Amino acid sequence: MRILLVEDEIRMAGFITRGLKEEDYIVDVANDGAKALFLAEVNPYDLIILDIILPIKDGITVCRELRSKKINVPILMLTSKDKVRDKVLGLNSGADDYLAKPFASEELLARISALLRRDRQDKTGILKIADLEMDQLRHKVRRAGEEIPLTSKEFALLEYLMLNATFVVTRTMISEHVWHEDFDSLTNVIDVYMNFLRNKIDKGHKKQLIHTVHGKGYVLREE
Ligand code: CA
Repeated sequence: MRILLVEDEIRMAGFITRGLKEEDYIVDVANDGAKALFLAEVNPYDLIILDIILPIKDGITVCRELRSKKINVPILMLTSKDKVRDKVLGLNSGADDYLAKPFASEELLARISALLRRDRQDKTGILKIADLEMDQLRHKVRRAGEEIPLTSKEFALLEYLMLNATFVVTRTMISEHVWHEDFDSLTNVIDVYMNFLRNKIDKGHKKQLIHTVHGKGYVLREE
């Protein structure tokens, strides 16, 4: 996990950096707003810690510019005092959370891990192809808005197909990733499960999503 820390006060930057490094985060430090913008555009950060009062460009401006450039990395804003105005400005400019100085290292680390967790869920929670939707966290599948009950094996198989949507997956790939075994004898088992899945996912729908690729395997795609 790589974090950009934007803070001009050297002692504060040192204190935060030490805390982050102890938790094995990789940390880059920018000490003004312009450098922060430059670094955030060229590096794929997982999170930015952004102070408000900075030389050249303040934190609010940096945050607005990042968001207008569609850089959607989670931003934790540091406010110098517990000022309501700072909080409102920060959140309105596109920050995800704020923390008032002074704060304990543990408090900062807790906020960071909550933001990272939330971000991961936003990115990987829902898989979608055509009108088929999978909620990976809640283990629910819907086709055309209607919930489809699946066994855990069927769910794992469909999840693997959805993660590889539009690419052909071979029976060997499926046996290794879904069954965690590499028996040739699984070939029949896979075909049987694929039929279960087809009956539940495609039956009664005009558009078929699961396709057999003869001599190769299966593919999930719109055609
Ligand atoms: Ca500052």
